[in-house]
Order: sequence, then structure tokens, then C-alpha cells
Amino acid sequence: MPKTVLVTGGAGYIGSHCCKALAEAGCIPVTFDNLSRGHADAVKWGPLVRGDLRDRAAVLAALRAHRAEAVIHFAALAYVGESVAEPQAYYDNNLGGMIGLLGAMQAAGLTQIVFSSSCATYGTPDRLPISEDMPQAPINPYGRTKLVCEWMLRDAGVAWGLRHVALRYFNAAGADPAGEAGERHDPETHVLPLALLAASGKGGPLRIFGTDYPTPDGTCIRDYIHVTDLARAHVRALDYLAGAGESVALNLGTGQGASVREVVSMIERVTGRAVPVLEEPRRPGDPAALYADIARAGAVLDFRPEFGLERIVADAAPWFGHGDIKAGP
Ligand code: UDP
Repeated sequence: MPKTVLVTGGAGYIGSHCCKALAEAGCIPVTFDNLSRGHADAVKWGPLVRGDLRDRAAVLAALRAHRAEAVIHFAALAYVGESVAEPQAYYDNNLGGMIGLLGAMQAAGLTQIVFSSSCATYGTPDRLPISEDMPQAPINPYGRTKLVCEWMLRDAGVAWGLRHVALRYFNAAGADPAGEAGERHDPETHVLPLALLAASGKGGPLRIFGTDYPTPDGTCIRDYIHVTDLARAHVRALDYLAGAGESVALNLGTGQGASVREVVSMIERVTGRAVPVLEEPRRPGDPAALYADIARAGAVLDFRPEFGLERIVADAAPWFGHGDIKAGP
């Protein structure tokens, strides 16, 4: 394991959970974040360097000052809807950020990177579960920026020996079981937080986007993975690269799908409160069902998710209006 890792976007949702997992593994996470979406008070497990990845000199200075040995790259704009409305901002930030980061890594002689990719790079898959060798045909600018970043990593591998693990996340959800990190998006657009807020009476009713999908209950199916499971997978990915592992792309999900109505039922069971809902038309760009084939992450990283949907809901609940819910063991 590297002693010190530069974590871009370490002030964000998945990044902050990953910093905790790194610290638990004995590694110092140095967060590099422009705080455009992240929160300074989420950086608790190592130093914070405030800066923008498009500023190559600033990234290089941070790598050198902290003697970073590897990089985990989370920092990105990550709202699908916003990416459709403001595509240039997504290309500028997500591709510009990767260009600055790779330039700095090359100049510093660093050759190991773990990258936050997304199941959004697959677009609408023609079969399920989704495996890594299926075609990548993203259907929105966000997914396209993640796919181009994967290409940049591969090209850098050929050109100057960079080795990467691209982790294609499915739906990250939940919060640190000890309550030390959580999810704070503004605006919040994800179904699980919005349904929890609806149940607490702090938000309006949950708008269910589409009840006429070709799924058993008519609502969309997604693969929700606990953010702490995701965080642990990053530590394993770093270890894999430190052990001379070859570049690879891996799905990170649970392999199990849950429909929007199943999420709602689980929230009602865990919180003991009703989730008021409004049934609305489909949201543009939503595939009916997405869930991962996770065999490759199991084989390459020996990774298996520990937590299921119940635990995801219990750990997220205190962050969204249910301070009385205590997560179980
Ligand atoms: N969804 C919903 N109501 C909401 C937000 C999301 O019904 O207010 C649905 C959405 O259509 C999708 C699923 O919940 O099928 C997960 O959406 P989310 O935005 O949480 O994640 P995504 O899969 O888009 O990354």
C-alpha cells in the first residue's frame, strides 16, 4: 500500500468515505478539492489542499509537497440532468481536470491511479446484468466525459506507463455506519435521500418517475451499493496497483437490482414511516433496469459487498431527517 495518496474530490460524498477507509488502512489521504461541490468539514482524515485540477502546476505542487505515491480521482461534476443542460461545463471540468491531473502525475513520475467511472458509460445496455466487456455507449454528456476519461487513462498507459483501475460505480448510496461521513448534495436529486426526506416530512412527496416500465412493478430498477463498500473497493484497487496489477475496468455494484417501489418499501420498513409518493411520467434518459455483473471485481480485487439495501437505508436515514434511527451492526 502507498503511504500517501492524493484524493481528488476527497471533500465529496464518495471521496470522504474513501478517505476514512484509507486512513483505516494506514494510509494518509491528501484531499485536493476546489470545494465547488464538496464540503471542507468532510475532510477529517488527512490534509486538505484547496485547488483546481485544471491548474497543473498546483496539482504538481501538491503531489510533491506531500510526497504522494498514487492518486484516487473522484473530483468531477456528476449530475446527469445538469450535464444535459450545461454540457460545456462538464467537458471543461471533467476532461480539463483529468488533463491537468495526468500532466502533473507524469511530471511527478507517478504511475498509479484509481478512477471514479460510472455505469453511465454503458448507456442503455442490451442485456443484463451488465459486464465490463459490453459496449460503452453513453446517452448523456456526463457519461461521455467519464468514457473519454477512461480512454485518456488507456492512452497514457501506452504512452508513458500509467496503470489505472477504472471503477464503474452503479448507484452509490448510504452513509458511514459510524456516522462520521454522509451524503450532502445540493441540490439533492437522488431517489433514496429524497424518499427519506419525504418520509420524515422534511421534503415534499417522492415523485416516482415512471410506473409503466417493463419491470415487475413498473418502476425503474437500479443496483444500490453502500458507499462504505465502494470506499473499501478503492483501497483494494490501490493495493492491486501497488502490487504491479495491470490496468483494468471493474463494475462496482451488488449484482442485485431494486425497483423504486422496493426502495420505498424498505424505507417504510426501516423508518416505520410512510413515504408519500406522486406517480409521474418517466424522466428522460432513464433506462428501465441497470444492475451489475460483479464477477470481475470479485476475481481481480477479491471484492464482495458487505451491505445490502436495508443497511444502506438505515445508515443514510439519520442524514435525511431520521435522527432517531440508529444503524444496526
Ligand atoms: N427517481 C425517482 N424519483 C426521484 C429521483 C429518482 O423516481 O425523485 C428514480 C429514477 O427515475 C431512477 C432511480 O430513481 O430510476 C434512481 O435515480 P437516481 O437519480 O437516484 O440515480 P441514477 O440512477 O439516475 O444515477
